[in-house]
Amino acid sequence: MTQPDDDKSQQFLNEHEELAPGQGFRFACHAGVSCFGACCSALDLMLTPYDALRLRRSTGQASRDFVHEYADLTAMPGIGLPMLQMHMQDTEAKRCPFSHNNACAVYENRPSACRTYPLGRATRPCPGGVQQQIFVLREAHCKGFAEASQWNTATWMTDQGLDSYNSANDRFMALASDLRQFEQDTGRHMNSQQAGMSGLALYQPDDFQRFLVGSHLMDRLDMTDARREDVLHDEEACLDFGYDWLELSIMGHTEHLQPKS
Ligand code: SF4
Ligand code: SF4
Repeated sequence: MTQPDDDKSQQFLNEHEELAPGQGFRFACHAGVSCFGACCSALDLMLTPYDALRLRRSTGQASRDFVHEYADLTAMPGIGLPMLQMHMQDTEAKRCPFSHNNACAVYENRPSACRTYPLGRATRPCPGGVQQQIFVLREAHCKGFAEASQWNTATWMTDQGLDSYNSANDRFMALASDLRQFEQDTGRHMNSQQAGMSGLALYQPDDFQRFLVGSHLMDRLDMTDARREDVLHDEEACLDFGYDWLELSIMGHTEHLQPKS
């Protein structure tokens, strides 16, 4: 996934080798490699809304408590879309707070960047979805490239359970891209109330569900009764609704709305 800052994204694309569809690479990461756990330190790790939702399944926390303990809520440069930056531990080593004895304590729900590594995924919107470019992040400290296991992009993504992450993250990046375009076309920025509601819809699905019960917000979208129930009881469905609602309320987009049955 592209980084939120355009200059950083371009630098990232320029510095790494692109992997063609079907092209192979050798890699394995396991407790037997001499560098095991070395990369879980001093990371500039953005958490997407779906990353945060999944991590909370491991921590069992309410969203407010999770954000307070593990992340800084910042704004995407230029467009003000709220985003989360994960805290590293406040020690000299700056270890990831989920790194315990060099193992990942949230492995089942680890963030998309951790799953994708040693690949990097850049996306850009295209008609009908997103176009992806995949890069290999060959870093000198990583001994995994000397291992025998062979992968290509598709087999790696499947092995790392990235399908649900990529499709959810693509919506986040599409929203950011749409906001950037909207701002260029209209000169209008997201106001503070919209930024606050975006943070609620994207990073606090548990609070957003409670808010929806007492509001008429869902009436603004053409939704089936079954989808309404899902939105109120399933955080992934609630996040998906949040994207639809933000696109409608900020930019007037209706293309993701599901027709009423
Ligand atoms: S540096 Fe590479 S091989 Fe070593 S633990 Fe990290 S990902 Fe695995
Ligand atoms: S979440 Fe897990 S895999 Fe990712 S940096 Fe932290 S310990 Fe490492």
